[in-house]
Amino acid sequence: MNPTIGDITDPQPGALARFPDDIEAHLADAAARPADQQPAWPDPDRAAAARNTLTQLPPLVLAGEVDRLQQRLSQVAQGQAFLLQAGDCAETFEGNTESHVSANIRTLLQMAVVLTYAASLPVVKIGRIAGQYAKPRSNATDALGLAVYRGDIVNSLEPTPGARVPDPSRMLRAYANSAASLNLVRALAGSGLADLGRVHEWNRDFVRDSPAGERYEAMAKEIDRGLAFMSACGADHNALHTTEIYTSHEALLLEYEQGLLRRAPAASGEPRLYGLSSHMLWIGERTRRPDGAHIALAALLANPIGLKLGPATSPEQAVEYVERLDADNVPGRLTLISRMGRDRVRDVLPAIVQKVEASGHRVVWQCDPMHGNTYEAASGYKTRRFEDILDEVKGFFEVHRALGTHPGGLHIELTGDSVTECLGGAEEIDEQALALRYETSCDPRLNPGQSVELAFLVAEMLRS
Ligand code: PEP
Ligand code: MN
Repeated sequence: MNPTIGDITDPQPGALARFPDDIEAHLADAAARPADQQPAWPDPDRAAAARNTLTQLPPLVLAGEVDRLQQRLSQVAQGQAFLLQAGDCAETFEGNTESHVSANIRTLLQMAVVLTYAASLPVVKIGRIAGQYAKPRSNATDALGLAVYRGDIVNSLEPTPGARVPDPSRMLRAYANSAASLNLVRALAGSGLADLGRVHEWNRDFVRDSPAGERYEAMAKEIDRGLAFMSACGADHNALHTTEIYTSHEALLLEYEQGLLRRAPAASGEPRLYGLSSHMLWIGERTRRPDGAHIALAALLANPIGLKLGPATSPEQAVEYVERLDADNVPGRLTLISRMGRDRVRDVLPAIVQKVEASGHRVVWQCDPMHGNTYEAASGYKTRRFEDILDEVKGFFEVHRALGTHPGGLHIELTGDSVTECLGGAEEIDEQALALRYETSCDPRLNPGQSVELAFLVAEMLRS
């Protein structure tokens, strides 16, 4: 009998060996490697059982969708499109509401419209959504001395020892929550929320209401005219009213990702191994040891893969990753997500870009201006300055412009809720204001005003 989503069923003998022998051998090799940032499950058999349950449930996404995203990212890698990837640092089960999910998607779409116009290129839209539940942490314990929160897929943010014990049944709740938010994302992408005219209306509201709005008025008017022109021409294509939105999360929790592996025919007709927990999966800065389980698993997947690269990465290491993760030399198969910090990006990134480009692999170059610019405010809140975020993006564009390479995209932590987690922006959120609405369960996110303002400022960079 098929398990229902809440159940954990004991694995049948041999149930976990689901694939042809050669694939099982590669997976066993990957699983035997050192894996950082995994929870110490109190009962590993229950974790294996939860994983077994996941193997029997429907996949969250389909191989054909993953292949289509791969094609879109090939265009980005070749300079014919731009990538915008954004969403919460950590999704939570409690925060998985219609209002939160749709506000995040709305903010993503608002940014994408501005960037599409400014770049005159299609913008590939990927949420950090419908599965962004596992978090790598710098320390094993938090400020209270409790076992650290590792994301809702592992334990609870509630500050009690019991709530912090890793609970494998949370993997099934993460699956169910992902399915629910993905269902909403799919519906929103095909509904009025994605209507270009409507998204632009929201941007006009932003320009009207923002203290910095005047600066963006000219561009908003140009977009107005562009839309009016298309409408006068009778250009009423479906693409103006609906859009493609893809999902992504950090492939951190191996039991979960293994449970959602599926073998399916690729576009070529050949069966391939997919991670069907999400369209795109990325490997984080803390789990990318070259000999480790995360990299080995990612290398086996047909999904487009992201890799976070911090300032300690050498150009030689970057090339090793590229050869490992893009062995078949597919443009856009790998997205290198630099997160160097505003003060390092101009020094560290050029040599990496040069060496990778010289290797002949066509990667997507994406800038994460969030994670290299985090610090603790005097009040104890983890925060980021809007101006630092903007400056890292500027540095990223400068580097690519100087080298003649394509600055392919942005990777942003944001929310559609009006939080006060990052400093600055037109509303001039200061350290005092952080306490007003600091709601993230992990890293500080841009609020909608800061996000759309960032898009307008990046638009200026794209056009200059
Ligand atoms: C993240 O994207 O939330 C994250 C943890 O990033 P990084 O791996 O770059 O630190
Ligand atoms: Mn984060």
